[in-house]
Amino acid sequence: MTQVIDGKLIAEDVLTGVKKATSELVATTGIIPGIAVVIVGEDPASQVYVASKGRKARECGFHSVQHTLDETTSEEDLVALVESLNADEAIHGILVQLPLPKHIDAARIIQTISPDKDVDGFNFINVGKIGTGEVETAFVPCTPAGSMIMIERIHGRDLSGLNAVVVGRSNIVGKPMANLLLAANATVTIAHSRTKDLPALCRTADILVAAVGRPQMVKGDWVKPGATVIDVGINRIPAPEKGEGKTRLVGDVDYPEAAKVAGAITPVPGGVGPMTIAMLMANTLKSAYRTAGKPVPR
Ligand code: NDP
Repeated sequence: MTQVIDGKLIAEDVLTGVKKATSELVATTGIIPGIAVVIVGEDPASQVYVASKGRKARECGFHSVQHTLDETTSEEDLVALVESLNADEAIHGILVQLPLPKHIDAARIIQTISPDKDVDGFNFINVGKIGTGEVETAFVPCTPAGSMIMIERIHGRDLSGLNAVVVGRSNIVGKPMANLLLAANATVTIAHSRTKDLPALCRTADILVAAVGRPQMVKGDWVKPGATVIDVGINRIPAPEKGEGKTRLVGDVDYPEAAKVAGAITPVPGGVGPMTIAMLMANTLKSAYRTAGKPVPR
């Protein structure tokens, strides 16, 4: 029987832990974890993400601030805002919602965020820590971090002897995912658009992570029987069966086919997505505990 890895349920578990640890931190130190989310422009998808991040933060008992800036905001003004948030003692996590308008250098903005408040884990310091196996002291990017928790639920923390294939090499998902799998002792291959015979490579995977951005690309016969399949993709496709002009969300994996072969698989929606936001809260909590000089309770 294929196990469906329920991201909503596991995310709720993570968030329950975050809420409890927040109450403990507030009661013992008076420190309230604070998160600032910055959005530039009016991209509708980004607005939905930002609103749900703010909502979750408040549910966790955090101090949550949103800065909504006009599409025409200059790079210098955005740098100045990030620097003021770096200096703000009430803020432990800073998230600048991507993508940014084209006239702003996103890389510069990311590197302006203090590594100690970089709860997205994109700053070079955190990237470097993950690349050198210093995972415990780093802020790990939320999507790969959430995917690892799901993998842990199936295989435990030590992935010795398991082959992992990550399809996708982005800085946000593919590369940090591969580093985390490596740090957990898996034997890791990273595949991308130039990889030869991708289906055959995928069939070698005990753990297959798809982070491609191509709807239902990974077919059932790409999956090794019994493998764990983590589908990071979020793609909107037409759904004429729901009515004219309607759409639905699918992953990068052909779920109906792959679910027949896999040992465990994440659905879309309800898989990696909810984990990503839960890990953002967990990272902000970690930052607040660090400020207090305390380890985060497990
Ligand atoms: P990117 O577009 O940055 O990277 C996609 C990667 O897939 C690239 O490395 C690219 O290769 C590779 N690729 C593209 N086409 C092929 C192909 N035909 N065969 C093999 N590899 C291919 O995407 P992201 O990493 O940012 O996101 C990936 C997916 O995950 C998207 O669907 C996105 O929406 C989703 N996502 C979901 C999140 C969540 O919370 N669940 C969070 C973040 C992303 P190359 O480098 O050679 O171009």
